[in-house]
Amino acid sequence: MSSNQLNSLNTSISYLKGVGPKRAELLQNELGIFTFYDLIQHLPFRYEDRSQFHKISDISVDTYALQLKGKIVSKKIVGVGRNARLVVLFDDGESKIELVWFKGGKWIMSQLPVDITVVVYGRPQNYKGKWNIPHPEVERADQYDKRGGGGLHPVYSSTEKLTSRGLHSSGLGRLIRVAWAEVRCEVDETLGDDMLAMLQIPGRAEAFEKVHAPKTPQEADRALKRLRFEELLYLQLVLLKQKQEVTVDLKGVRFESVGEKFNYFYKENLPFALTGAQKRVMKEIRADLNTGSHMNRLLQGDVGSGKTIIALMTSLLAIDNNYQACIMAPTEILAQQHFNGITELLGEMDVRVELLTGSVTKSARRPILQGLENGVVDIIIGTHALIEPAVKFQNLGLAVIDEQHKFGVAQRSKLWAKASTAPHVLVMTATPIPRTLAMTSYGDLDCSVLDEMPPGRKEIKTVHRTDANRLAVHNFIEKQILEGRQVYVVYPLIEESATLDHKDLMDGYESLTRRFPLPKFKLSVVHGRMKPNDKEMEMHRFAEGRTQILVATTVIEVGVNVPNATLMVIESAERFGLSQLHQLRGRVGRGGEQSYCILMTKDEFSSEARRRLETMCRTNDGFEIAEVDMEIRGPGDVMGTQQSGVPDLQMADLMRDRDLMVTARYMASQILDDDPKLEKSKNQILKINLDRILEDRPNWSRIS
Ligand code: ADP
Ligand code: MG
Repeated sequence: MSSNQLNSLNTSISYLKGVGPKRAELLQNELGIFTFYDLIQHLPFRYEDRSQFHKISDISVDTYALQLKGKIVSKKIVGVGRNARLVVLFDDGESKIELVWFKGGKWIMSQLPVDITVVVYGRPQNYKGKWNIPHPEVERADQYDKRGGGGLHPVYSSTEKLTSRGLHSSGLGRLIRVAWAEVRCEVDETLGDDMLAMLQIPGRAEAFEKVHAPKTPQEADRALKRLRFEELLYLQLVLLKQKQEVTVDLKGVRFESVGEKFNYFYKENLPFALTGAQKRVMKEIRADLNTGSHMNRLLQGDVGSGKTIIALMTSLLAIDNNYQACIMAPTEILAQQHFNGITELLGEMDVRVELLTGSVTKSARRPILQGLENGVVDIIIGTHALIEPAVKFQNLGLAVIDEQHKFGVAQRSKLWAKASTAPHVLVMTATPIPRTLAMTSYGDLDCSVLDEMPPGRKEIKTVHRTDANRLAVHNFIEKQILEGRQVYVVYPLIEESATLDHKDLMDGYESLTRRFPLPKFKLSVVHGRMKPNDKEMEMHRFAEGRTQILVATTVIEVGVNVPNATLMVIESAERFGLSQLHQLRGRVGRGGEQSYCILMTKDEFSSEARRRLETMCRTNDGFEIAEVDMEIRGPGDVMGTQQSGVPDLQMADLMRDRDLMVTARYMASQILDDDPKLEKSKNQILKINLDRILEDRPNWSRIS
């Protein structure tokens, strides 16, 4: 945080006593530790609690490790050869427990004092219903007292390579203590007194001191909290500052009037009452649009939550103010669907909507491009084709970007460049992002959430079945079809195993055609080896209800909207990620009928896969699923590498410190609301440090 300060915090660790060039290199490569400051920021990941003596009777399944005081009653080697082990009976005055060594028994036996008070520390294990402690540390109590053995012992994460050079946890601890002695006087405070008091956390120097050598667990907790909070608070201050820049400093076009088209649509064309969530989101958007600042909003809503109507109504606001709107989708199918949906919603209204994708022919393209340039086209819907240089707008005021996960940052900024004033941006995603992640990865965007489904939507019933149940599953498929419904059967397709996956799909398809023969049943199949045109045709056949089963690879993940489809069978479901399963399931349950999802697996799969399947069976809530997904995969993987935007945190952790992040976010926004430029004297400490950070990292990743 203070790398431009000239002091020993930034001294290279190669100058630290006990660290030569070899160790320095290892510390850099293995743990990213370059300076003294990096080293003291290497916080313990747990503590051995030596602050108190427990009783043997305290031991339970929840005991990680514990410290006991008492006497050794007896010791003997039991068994022979490879089974030989040292068994020591230990008595804490109330009860007894066995201490066991499977290795080095003879030597240890000779060292252990009988009938003298000793301190024992170790991790109990339950063997056939009885507790014992394998390989504990044992020390004479008088020696333990003499060296001041109490307190909490920090445990640091290390690596195999470091350990082989003597830098296991306690070796690292020693280095940290040496480094700390060097820099302790140079650690500046970065939080105001009022904040420390309010959160009941220690000052910075004290926190570093305590975190590496706490006396009690409470002391350690407060010190950890302080350091993690500080990191999260500054992260949020940086993000909110960036947001300030794009919203306040970068002026947006003002949509002052809610005009004729919006009102007409609302009164005459709206085919249903908006859900509470839709109304709330429209209010949030309208508030953004007429302040004169720039809208940069992320709209999250599960599949089917009704994002399209929000995109359309926001576009109408733009049109009413004489601006054009564009809606960009990641695939042709999706763009086409938006186009169909939106033209249908608009009905006879006098709004000119055009579709521009890669497959629009040159001759059809010319009038569209002209219309955009001279302003007669009001809404343009399309794919990447929209960011090509040939596309020029007369007056672009709004860019709606659907399923933004598929778009890179660079692509979005190309859209921006198409207007003299940056258009308002509404990013829509059906992949819910856990709240804390949204606060960081999209910390400079405002967030709106459609957390309410349109009425009448039934929960999709989800079950897990294995190959043994296949007959029953086929019968269920048949039942759905005979009731007039349609069915998806989805197979995984993973590049590394593409050939095998393709075979699985074709085998599955063949066995389905035998079970569901013509002419009574009709099947479609769509896979990656088909020509785009053939794929499209098969999809259409299914969409139009001419076939009843669509066998496909995950290509249907985004796209197709077939309300009559009520059953989704996912083959090899154990191979899909959670968010993918959730997206796939979202293909059904789009009509009024009860819908189902069957997750097919082999008999055996990993415990992680089990957790995914259980989560799917338990809930339909995309946000809950996203939280579990983040727990399983970690924040980086959830966001994907393409534009992860997951900050590189030294001390805090997005998963573990979710609550602290919420506090930091809240406090940071309070501070900036109250004092946007950090001019008040109580905020000087924040301003100084924030400026330092911003100076150090001029290119902090920006999302849009
Ligand atoms: P999303 O894009 O969020 O997945 P859509 O905008 O495609 O969802 O909407 C899904 C379906 O729900 C569409 O058929 C749409 O007409 C319908 N719908 C949207 N909002 C409502 C509402 N408030 N009441 C009833 N149906 C709605
Ligand atoms: Mg949609």
